[in-house]
This record gives sequence, C-alpha cells and structure tokens, in this order.
Amino acid sequence: MKKIAIFPGSFDPFTKGHEDIVIRGLKLFDEIIIGLGHNSKKKRYFDLDTMMQYIEETFKDYPHISVIAYDELTANLAENHGARYLLRGLRNTTDFEYENSIAQFNKQLVGDLESVFLITSPAYAYISSTIIREVHRYGEDVSAFLPYKL
Ligand code: ADP
Repeated sequence: MKKIAIFPGSFDPFTKGHEDIVIRGLKLFDEIIIGLGHNSKKKRYFDLDTMMQYIEETFKDYPHISVIAYDELTANLAENHGARYLLRGLRNTTDFEYENSIAQFNKQLVGDLESVFLITSPAYAYISSTIIREVHRYGEDVSAFLPYKL
C-alpha cells in the first residue's frame, strides 16, 4: 500500500525550513501532499494562490510532491486523500507542546492517522513564517529564507 503523507500548514510564507522537511520526508513516504490550510475568516499576509504557485515551482522536479489548498479539518483532508500520515516539523519545545496536543486530537478524530515528526535541520531552526512576515512588512529582503523568488 502506498504511503501517502499530508504536510499541513499555513505556509504564510512557505520557507526553506518547510522545504527541508518535505524533501527529507520523501525518504519515509511514497507521496507527500503539501496542504496549504486557509481559514476563509482569517486574512493571510501572502496571497493563497500565489503561494501555491511558489510551492509548485519549488517542487516542479519532484513528481511525488503535490500541493493543495484546503479549508477543512486536517484529519478529514487526510482521510479524503487516502493519507494515513501527517508530517510535521519540530523546531523547539514550543512546537512540541502545540504539536503534541494537535496530534492527539487528530488521532481521536481519525483512529488510524499517525503524525510523524522530523526535527528541524539546525541551519533552518531559527526560520519562522511569523518573523519573515514581520521583516518583509518593513521592506527587508527575505529571499535568503525562501526556496523561491518572491
Ligand atoms: P501552522 O500554521 O500549522 O502552525 P506553519 O505553516 O508555520 O504551521 O508550519 C507548518 C509545519 O512546519 C509545522 O509543523 C511547523 O512546526 C513546521 N515548521 C515551521 N517552520 C519550520 C522550520 N524552520 N523548520 C522545520 N519545520 C518548520
């Protein structure tokens, strides 16, 4: 049976840290679907469709990586795509606290869904979408943190 994982997140923006998790995830899974979660009631900083295009461009040479936008529970998204794994990255204990409760919640929702965590590569551990948005808002160049050209 094909091992399909969803890599869910807001990716506002998608960073080199995210790219690293996806590429390393390919050693574990046959197919990875990057799920760009958006909440229609919450405004994004980077436009959703543009970010999807950037992610598609980043992985254009990887036939087993795809990207979709979604506005539903991640556990349901996984079930609907035949994915039995959720891939997430862990940078620090703050990520752990948050991920721990979401993973347990998701397992309650869909019993055979397993969350799999990869520890961030040290070179990317400090990169966060929140900080990039802040720096970009003040007009600084953030291209060193992104795997595509804005
Ligand atoms: P969310 O909006 O779901 O909190 P993000 O879009 O910020 O998530 O990130 C999606 C996933 O990528 C999360 O598992 C997060 O911990 C992980 N992640 C974020 N930044 C990095 C990074 N620099 N290195 C590795 N993983 C990261």
